[in-house]
Amino acid sequence: MPIHDFKSQRLYLDHPLGEGTAIELDRSQANYLISVLRLKSGAQLLVFNGRDGEWRAQFEVTGRKSGTLTPFEQTRLQPPANDLVYCFAPLRQARQDYMIQKAVEMGAGVLQPVITQHTQVHKVNLQRMQANAIEAAEQCGILCIPDCREALPLETLLEQWNGKRILIFADEAAAEINPLEVLKACRGSPLGLLVGPEGGFSQAEREQLASFENAVTISLGPRILRADTAGVAALAVTQAACGDW
Ligand code: SAH
Repeated sequence: MPIHDFKSQRLYLDHPLGEGTAIELDRSQANYLISVLRLKSGAQLLVFNGRDGEWRAQFEVTGRKSGTLTPFEQTRLQPPANDLVYCFAPLRQARQDYMIQKAVEMGAGVLQPVITQHTQVHKVNLQRMQANAIEAAEQCGILCIPDCREALPLETLLEQWNGKRILIFADEAAAEINPLEVLKACRGSPLGLLVGPEGGFSQAEREQLASFENAVTISLGPRILRADTAGVAALAVTQAACGDW
């Protein structure tokens, strides 16, 4: 684990970051720092924008709901983006928020909603997905904001799939074989992961995925997990067996 300051407040700013250039905060961010965190002029915090690494910045209050942040020291360089493509059937709001935050913490680099036959939620609010991804990145020290993509039907996802990338498919009906063993074969390959909706996969989809040559089917054990739990479990075994753990 790189040395990393967990104690300082971290803030995502959608702004180029460079030494000595004061950034005017938008109203809601200024309000958050002044009224929620109760920061005063001179306070220091860490800022990042997903492109320019992480910087220590000094806060100045310029009005009741306005302020600036001036980066003065780079604390970490921008790392390369995570390559793991996390494909998931969208869930209802609170579970979806949870799942997005956890997926980011677990190292997903792309968040790809997928509509399957039993998916109940068809509309995905990209802005909300992005806000959750940013919140998780702020919290756990990640400097790359995952790429939040528009939802695709499963069929299209498979048609457009990059032939070099393995698609790890968490199938609730798979034979119970330890996934850590199965996934050893995926080391070194670019990876994607697919977790189904609360209603599970249809038999037709299961067959389609079984015959998809890039797919590797895994079981997550003898219990049926809820989709959000399955996402975290699948990401954990993937990272442990053939990812960046
Ligand atoms: N309603 C379905 C379960 C769906 S669980 C049923 O009762 O069978 C939602 C998703 O989580 C599944 O589509 C799968 O991707 C994943 N999942 C849950 N439990 C799993 C397990 N034991 N093994 C593999 N994947 C699992």
